[in-house]
Amino acid sequence: MKPIALDQAAINAEGILIAGSPGLALSSVHFDTRELTVGSLFVALTGGARDGHDFLLQAAEQGAVAALVSNQEKIPGDLPNDFGLILVNDTLRGFQKLAAAYRKSFSFPRIAITGSIGKTTVKDIVAHVLASRSPVYKTYKNFNNHIGVPLSLLQMEENHQAAVLELGMNHAGEIDLLASLVQPDISVITFIGESHIEYFGTREKIALAKAELLPHTALDGLVLLNKDSEYLRLIAHLYPGELMYYSVNEKADIWAEQIETVEGGTRFKVYLASGEYFEAFLPLHGRHSVLNALPAVAIAKRLGMDTEQIAYALSTVQLSAMRFEQINGKHATVYISDAYNASPVSMEAAVRTFAELYPECARIVVLGDMYELGPDSRAMHAGVGASIQDIAERFELLVTIGEDSRHLHDAYAGKKLHFATKAEAMAALLPLRDEKHAFLFKASKGMSLWTLITDLEGHE
Ligand code: ATP
Ligand code: MG
Repeated sequence: MKPIALDQAAINAEGILIAGSPGLALSSVHFDTRELTVGSLFVALTGGARDGHDFLLQAAEQGAVAALVSNQEKIPGDLPNDFGLILVNDTLRGFQKLAAAYRKSFSFPRIAITGSIGKTTVKDIVAHVLASRSPVYKTYKNFNNHIGVPLSLLQMEENHQAAVLELGMNHAGEIDLLASLVQPDISVITFIGESHIEYFGTREKIALAKAELLPHTALDGLVLLNKDSEYLRLIAHLYPGELMYYSVNEKADIWAEQIETVEGGTRFKVYLASGEYFEAFLPLHGRHSVLNALPAVAIAKRLGMDTEQIAYALSTVQLSAMRFEQINGKHATVYISDAYNASPVSMEAAVRTFAELYPECARIVVLGDMYELGPDSRAMHAGVGASIQDIAERFELLVTIGEDSRHLHDAYAGKKLHFATKAEAMAALLPLRDEKHAFLFKASKGMSLWTLITDLEGHE
């Protein structure tokens, strides 16, 4: 963060300076005491399990020189004399305002990415391609909510030439708030799916919630929508500026054709509406990975990169852990870990991708429960079981684990086993741990399915 004076921070947070020297320089902003360094402003958030005001002394000990507070009664008397205090009504709102004001001090383009699936993947690919030319800020990990987005904005630095930010949501109204903080120049909506459908009821309502991003996107900016996600077409008219569709299934403003799985990744041709096209290689597997790379091509073009630079950058993409991550085990077994999250669409895509890989191995598919699917959860689990039936002969075994996954198991007619717990599944998987087998692990994060890989590897 570029330093902010304490009195300016008070103005930005719309608060009152009640202690400290106005010119005191703040070097970072954090609400987690573990992140504090000398010169930090500590934000005493109150919404969580603990009240941040209870950590003011600890924050000072860890180097914080000031704090954003809302409860004067909870300010300890023994804080250092020169400790700065900014009083606001609501520390979360104050923190968000601070971030929004900080963002205004930069003029480089901001790119916002939302959608039911693929946000982090698209963010990582966009940032990687742009960063091959000049420094880019990107959302740290998955910090995409009401506290993660402001925190991300406050980490932008002067040497950055663009910022790529992931916006997440569980409820209507959330994107409206996050997008108002970011005020993007370019927005991407990756997909409308069933994630969090239990909070929304229908896909149309999910589409409307994502559409909250559009009015906050600069009018002279650009909006990119996935043409292969039919519900996105419902909201396209809500952005009056330039809008582009991308697709891996049909012609669009930017699209991919001749997609083939090759060793180490996927080869394809990218076509632009201008008639221009180029060949690309992506070291990731699956059609959906190509789909996720198309916004990066469009954005990089828009920001002045040429297709050669873009194609080279795509060929060197690396993704975060647990997103179709290949792990080479000590018994020469290959494990694909995609256990970070799951929805019916991403689960089917992962299984289909896996079906194309490791032709020399017998493939074992291990699937756990998908969470937050609402009242139709069991039917959706069954839907995945039925949807992968056509490629059943490509797998030696389908192992399902968990309550709702039982329905996936029931709907699938290939060779299969079902277990209530991971521990029971472990006994069945252990004898398959050798160079002749390749495993795919996929489930919602709450299942912690990756522990099976650790256990299989740790087992003698
Ligand atoms: P979260 O809401 O947890 O932040 P996200 O939107 O950031 O999720 P990713 O983490 O990028 O999504 O991807 C989630 C999973 O979906 C991964 O397993 C990924 O491989 C898969 N996936 C990504 N994009 C697609 C797609 N277009 N179609 C199908 N599956 C996809
Ligand atoms: Mg994410």
